[in-house]
Amino acid sequence: MAQLSLRFLGAAGSVTGSRHLLTSDGERYLIDCGMFQGEKSLRERNWQPLPVEIGQLRSLVLTHAHLDHTGYLPRLVRDGYRGPVYASQGTAELMGVLLPDSGRLQEEDAEFRNRRGLTRHQPALPLYTEVDARRALSLVQPRPLEEPLVLSPGCEVRLHRAAHILGSCFAEFHLGAGAEARRILFTGDLGRLRQGESQTLGRGPEPPADVDYLVMESTYGDRLHPHEDVAPKLAAALRAALERGGVVVIPAFAVERTQKLLFLIKHLIEAGQVPRAPIHLDSPMALAAIEIFLRHADEFNSETRDLIRRYGPPQNWDHVFFDRSPQASRAVNAQGGPMIIISSSGMATGGRVVHHLALRLPDPRNLVLFVGYQSPGTLGFLIRTGKSPVFIHKQAVEVRAQVAAFEEFSDHADAEEMVAWLHQMPKPPRRIFLVHGEAAAAEALAQRIKSELGWSAHPAQWLEEVPLD
Ligand SMILES: [Zn+2]
Repeated sequence: MAQLSLRFLGAAGSVTGSRHLLTSDGERYLIDCGMFQGEKSLRERNWQPLPVEIGQLRSLVLTHAHLDHTGYLPRLVRDGYRGPVYASQGTAELMGVLLPDSGRLQEEDAEFRNRRGLTRHQPALPLYTEVDARRALSLVQPRPLEEPLVLSPGCEVRLHRAAHILGSCFAEFHLGAGAEARRILFTGDLGRLRQGESQTLGRGPEPPADVDYLVMESTYGDRLHPHEDVAPKLAAALRAALERGGVVVIPAFAVERTQKLLFLIKHLIEAGQVPRAPIHLDSPMALAAIEIFLRHADEFNSETRDLIRRYGPPQNWDHVFFDRSPQASRAVNAQGGPMIIISSSGMATGGRVVHHLALRLPDPRNLVLFVGYQSPGTLGFLIRTGKSPVFIHKQAVEVRAQVAAFEEFSDHADAEEMVAWLHQMPKPPRRIFLVHGEAAAAEALAQRIKSELGWSAHPAQWLEEVPLD
């Protein structure tokens, strides 16, 4: 009987820092290599060495490009990892943009803190640099979906479409043979089963395979997404803010949701429902991300494809500006409304959007619009939940701007959709582990699975190690 175990090195009791260690007959595999974000106690975990000898890691498999699943990779490589990193083609392309950007932003943040004396550390250091990120990318090997890949004798992995973001996958491991064969499925982040108007991708996730063990996300385990069309709500919020001369700040990752949002705003402007205001994409990677998005247009739903056909590449729109350099970003600060700024990071944990928020939050004409999940402890969460003042770079900033959040743009299945997805399993897995959710969300999902399917599911604990029989 093969010795099999799982250890949860991140995204257990929290949504960030996804890192799951699978050990089979002494061989170690890491599934996802995410960065911790949010509360300081979480962020500090990025600075602790991985509790496993890096030289013993055989290979890495990444489910999708979001930084809470890939953002630790450059640090792992800087600390000595030299093995292969497997991901889908779409994920590999997005990482090629996201990871160097993450390194660059950390360098910019560290430089800013040192210049302003905002650090207890002498000097403040980036977790990794852009150069580290580029070195990490050289280890990435893109893999086609559905094709078995042998990681070592007796261990195969297959990637299946997860429909969360472009290129996102489940990782299904086959271990051992005959009566001792075991299958383990890691969902990564699970996409929406019901594709509404605001969704980007054209098809939902693949149904789950018949597996022995399931490691499943639980971000929205205690919530249901609204199902109405988001466009009229979005138009009304933007129109009101822009007509009063306000600046709309949208904290958003530069991938996918940003592009969908951009096309939707463009459509509302051309339809006369939103005033024609300048739109600033304040991110050095926005242009590259849009090029990847347009290259994979066949993955998207028909509404998105229609919008792409109708309006062409955003590079050609006369009221859209790509602010690539820090100087261009700072120049936006000198401008007043009406204007729309889309800038990362999505939870305002760092990056340029933090500077825009510091400047724009005190003015009641402005609007801060959230379109993604806000993890507790992040600046985005504090603003979203109505806190004022908030502290940015150690300064108290009054929140007088209007604040709105549209969960319709979520790329995650909600609680009902997760249970509906599980319903498609041919038979109950021996064990289900819930990861990538706050403790309350994971607990609520475990109860829902118990009451609706009669299966038991275990919310994983950080650093917990579980032998699998
Ligand atoms: Zn994700």
